[in-house]
Amino acid sequence: MAYQCDLETGQRLYLENRGTQTVVRLTSGSDRQQQSQQSNFETGNWRSPPKVFRTATEIILRIDSAQKQSFLSLQAQRIGMLNTSPDLTDADVLPLQSTESIASSFKPIEPMKPMQMGDMQMQPMEMKMGTMHMKMGAPDAQSTHRFCAQCGESVRESDRFCSHCGTKLAD
Ligand SMILES: [Zn+2]
Repeated sequence: MAYQCDLETGQRLYLENRGTQTVVRLTSGSDRQQQSQQSNFETGNWRSPPKVFRTATEIILRIDSAQKQSFLSLQAQRIGMLNTSPDLTDADVLPLQSTESIASSFKPIEPMKPMQMGDMQMQPMEMKMGTMHMKMGAPDAQSTHRFCAQCGESVRESDRFCSHCGTKLAD
């Protein structure tokens, strides 16, 4: 789930839920000279698309997750999480558009810094070892291994006759 929102300042806001983190990316400038910054916030898994509000002084992002409701504040180039619920009575709601994931849409034109891999926690935790069906043979069986001279089947040291073809085994 990723959303973008064009701000009046010419900035574009991207929001994406990765695991329990909300990735906020703010870009500005033209395609050639694009500046971007990105912050991750621990918000939980989105329950619904985020809401973007514009107040007189700042942009407020509201994230509703299964765990809690979080507010992020955006002022100029600074993004931060608010500890208290802001007053949004006079705020405008800015439209959000769903978009490609931030990672995929930015990889080709991201010259700033390597992608942060620290928040990629999406691998499945489950690892199955497969059924333990391999017969390795016990170590002592290997040390006393013999083969029937007649048919080539493996026989035990203690066998006097090959269990496969019945040939008498040499001592
Ligand atoms: Zn044999």
